[in-house]
Amino acid sequence: MAQKCAICGAEINVFQSQKLTDGNYICRKTCKKLGMKEFDYVHADLPAVLAHNAQVKEGAKIFNELFLPRMDTKEKDKKLVQFGHVYVAPDLGLTALAYPEYKFFIFGKHWPRACVYRTGDLFRYDVKKETKVVDGKEQTDIFVEYEFANTPGMFTFRDKVTNGDAVVKYFDKTFGIQKTLSNMGNNLANQINAAKAAAGAVKAAMNGEADAQGKAAGAFDALNVAQYGDRTEINARADAALAPYKTGE
Ligand SMILES: [Zn+2]
Repeated sequence: MAQKCAICGAEINVFQSQKLTDGNYICRKTCKKLGMKEFDYVHADLPAVLAHNAQVKEGAKIFNELFLPRMDTKEKDKKLVQFGHVYVAPDLGLTALAYPEYKFFIFGKHWPRACVYRTGDLFRYDVKKETKVVDGKEQTDIFVEYEFANTPGMFTFRDKVTNGDAVVKYFDKTFGIQKTLSNMGNNLANQINAAKAAAGAVKAAMNGEADAQGKAAGAFDALNVAQYGDRTEINARADAALAPYKTGE
């Protein structure tokens, strides 16, 4: 039975469609391609997909305008730090997940998809190893799982890296952001409340609730209670960098 894409309205058959958790379908050909491959479509509803698509569109603009000039800069404090497909702009207080595309008619790389995060919103990350057998040989892949607070759209993803310890060392040394909730002391109840508040804020933002911003602020206070340290300075830098992109929304 043919379905209609809930975003663009295209007629789609079962092979061309992605079913969402709220029963909506979107087309794989156009609307799913607007998002990142890490996005969890199976567990997302339509508002979440729309929030993610907006996030990627805005993220790509920010990445091209703010991150790209920092890729090869000679100014050491501005130079991007890269782990896998994650790029950290230390002077901006921003972190991005971004993928290049190679197109023969554009010189060099073109970056159509990026998600940009405030580095200070990184409240959980962890290194995971996965071993699989490829052609009779064991192969171990290393992934870093990231989770950001105050983020509508895709707020968690994992990214393949060559050296997980380097990621941990960098975020810890540069920003004082330590790996995983389990390192943050014994107050499990606080941690669970913080995680719930963050999830609530994300949901509110997705549903377009008027108080989403207030809820997000509350979530970050809750996170602070769970000893995430003071992120005020990093996030102030991030907000200043993002301000031109947030006007007129
Ligand atoms: Zn569509």
